[in-house]
Amino acid sequence: MSSVVKLPTPTQPPYRPGDELPPELYRQAVEQADLAISITDGAANILYANEAFSRVTGYAREAVAGKNESILSAGNTPREIYSGLWAQLSSGQGWSGRLINQRQDGSQYVAELSITPVMDGEGNVSNFLGMHRDITELHALESLVRNQKSVIESVVNLAPVVIALVDQEGRVVLDNLECKKLVTDLGVPEPALALLDTAAPNWRDTLVKKSPANGFSGREVRMDPAGRSQPRWFSCAALLVDVSNQKADGYFGAGASAHLLLVASDVTALRVEQEKARTAALQALMAEEERVASIRESLSAAVFRLGEPLNILRSAVALLERRDPATAAILQTALSSANEHAETIRQCIPAHGPEHVTAVNLNEVMRDVLEVSTPRFLAKGVVVDWRPSLTLPSVMGRPLQLRVLFKALVENAIEAMSIKGWMQRELRILTQYGSDHVAVRVEDTGPGVAADMRLKAFEPFVTTKGGRGAHLGTGLSRAQQIVANHGGMIDLESRRGGGCSVRVELPLDGDPL
Ligand code: FAD
Repeated sequence: MSSVVKLPTPTQPPYRPGDELPPELYRQAVEQADLAISITDGAANILYANEAFSRVTGYAREAVAGKNESILSAGNTPREIYSGLWAQLSSGQGWSGRLINQRQDGSQYVAELSITPVMDGEGNVSNFLGMHRDITELHALESLVRNQKSVIESVVNLAPVVIALVDQEGRVVLDNLECKKLVTDLGVPEPALALLDTAAPNWRDTLVKKSPANGFSGREVRMDPAGRSQPRWFSCAALLVDVSNQKADGYFGAGASAHLLLVASDVTALRVEQEKARTAALQALMAEEERVASIRESLSAAVFRLGEPLNILRSAVALLERRDPATAAILQTALSSANEHAETIRQCIPAHGPEHVTAVNLNEVMRDVLEVSTPRFLAKGVVVDWRPSLTLPSVMGRPLQLRVLFKALVENAIEAMSIKGWMQRELRILTQYGSDHVAVRVEDTGPGVAADMRLKAFEPFVTTKGGRGAHLGTGLSRAQQIVANHGGMIDLESRRGGGCSVRVELPLDGDPL
């Protein structure tokens, strides 16, 4: 009887999950892989190379068998790369990196190589598995991008304009040298954001809403750096640009975000010239306004002061009407005539000239006032400490009236400090703004104002200077009138360290009379 030995049936294709795969399948997979694969002994002598290895290196498989991998070396890879490679392999770890290889025909290529040590049964490195591919094209592309980046960076840095790219979170992700210079020039950590905040206060919403129509151009921004005699002007433009997501989840185009590209050119030189011409014209205009205002004040004072004797005369007529009608009639004639003259004088009081309401920047107004008051500061030895807010939203107002208002406050301050022998003569002017208003503070180091005068000082013809000569006491009442016409508030108080402080607050959404 013959016994039949049943041999295990070898696994046949098609293989299913869980099947033990035959070594031949592994061999074929390596053979047909698209990567150049080689297996070496422990000293890098080639024992096996696949088809792709021949395709990439140009060497026939028979030609490389037994040769060292170093036949691929083009001789221009830095030595330390090889020593690093071998140090890593000697410690039993794999290595991956880039080398310059040479094909059989002498042409060179950049190889991206990965070497894995293969352990024997005792855990010792017996062989190495090398896999590499030709990444010359990728290297060319990377170099192109790097070169273009450095050319673009040079152009952007050399450009005589401010350039900055701001991401959706409002962070500056790129800025050029001109932009960086503004950090010290303007005294702000992020000049690009300061420019955007002023040119387009709602730019953050614009970015979030990502509407392509929301770019802008030609918006002029004025910056008033503290401690500098000149403001700076910039003409700003901004453009929304789509920036693709560099993370893995952005590979198929998802997650692109809108960035804002800001370009601002410094137009200060041009504006300084325009300002010179404007200031000269303004000086003449203000001088005329002041002349008319002083006539207005003198005549108003005359009418006001005439009121007192006329009242006495009126009482006298009433008293004498029954007792001495003849005298009363004479007095009545005199009274009527005096009233007529008073009325004539009243009609001679010049009316305010028409002035349009426009958007007014109070930094600009204050600079103009300081400019025209410079001769007075010099004459009276007053030191000016000008502390503007770097940027200031505009208020709606009558530009000339506002200049007259602040000039009157500055004049008052100079007058207050012009006391014989008074040593400390310092004028400090600050501008600030809140969510609904802009405020200007005019502070002096004069004798200050007594508590009982704080409100009285705003009444017409009230003066702390004796009411004679040039001081009619109408300055503060006129100032208050202008502030009231602009829907604002004016407040007068003594400063803690001495001197007087006047604060004017004007609303951002004002609608002047
Ligand atoms: P060396 O690096 O000093 O080499 C001199 C000889 O000593 C070479 O035969 C080298 O293989 C061998 N050797 C050096 N240090 C050790 C060590 N610590 N242990 C054992 N042997 C050592 N190089 C390329 O330029 N291109 C390749 O594509 C490439 N592929 C490789 C694939 C594998 C799997 C391995 C293991 C190495 C590969 N190398 C490759 C490295 C290569 O073996 C050489 O080290 C390199 O080419 C530099 O050769 P060299 O003659 O200029 O100098």
